[in-house]
Amino acid sequence: MKIVCLDLEGVLVPEIWIAFSERAGIPELRKTTRDEPDYDILMKYRLDILAKHGLTLANIQEVISEMRPLPGACEFLAWLRENYQVVILSDTFYEFARPLMRCLSWPTLFCHALETDAEGCVTGYRLRLPDQKRQAVRHFRALNFTVVAGGDSYNDTGMLGEAHAGILFRPPENVIREFPQYPVALDYDTFFSEIESAFARAE
Ligand SMILES: [Mg+2]
Repeated sequence: MKIVCLDLEGVLVPEIWIAFSERAGIPELRKTTRDEPDYDILMKYRLDILAKHGLTLANIQEVISEMRPLPGACEFLAWLRENYQVVILSDTFYEFARPLMRCLSWPTLFCHALETDAEGCVTGYRLRLPDQKRQAVRHFRALNFTVVAGGDSYNDTGMLGEAHAGILFRPPENVIREFPQYPVALDYDTFFSEIESAFARAE
């Protein structure tokens, strides 16, 4: 019994905040956890900017609905789901991911939630669980699944380490250097064959 746990942003879809900042013309929203490692400070900064621009959740979703998955991602995911159970573990929010999940034919997604007020403005966020990617993999293993995890960045290294095998997909150079134990795939064909051989080794 096998499960593939996949990161979302940078693996199947573009970085949502960066793509949003470009489409909405708000460069201040390009700031990521690499610029501000404290996630709570970063999110409060983002929510302040959204409020300053008077953007409601509906406005944001409208912009996100124009985004598309990365080229080849839909075919890759469909093929993967024919062969394995797939769960997407992401640190994005259900409300942001929804339009992109439609493009991906509604795969299972575990992520976080946003809070809105009566006017539809985003007022806060709710992490479902701290360190949820790693926790999810740990509990899949407890349910007797063999788990292969794939992601592109620091927030994936917990789940990569917890899985039977981890694979990096198009990671930045510093992640490759700091985590040399993981194979690196730069395209979906290689990613798929790395997943297959990881399961073969784990058995
Ligand atoms: Mg990512």
